[in-house]
Amino acid sequence: MDLSELSAGTVVETKKPHACGGTLWEIVRTGADKKIKCKKCGRILVLLPDELRKRVRRIVEET
Ligand SMILES: [Zn+2]
Repeated sequence: MDLSELSAGTVVETKKPHACGGTLWEIVRTGADKKIKCKKCGRILVLLPDELRKRVRRIVEET
């Protein structure tokens, strides 16, 4: 999946659920590393682009 066009505010669904059970994440920051926030519990993760690409199943909502 090409995630190069993801922008802040875009919501993505991950293949594996977070520890809290949520699978929807909002992109908080893009760039050399990606910051994503769990929509359910609010936890923020910082991922390398490759790591994010592996986790994402689909883009739910574009801004
Ligand atoms: Zn969570």
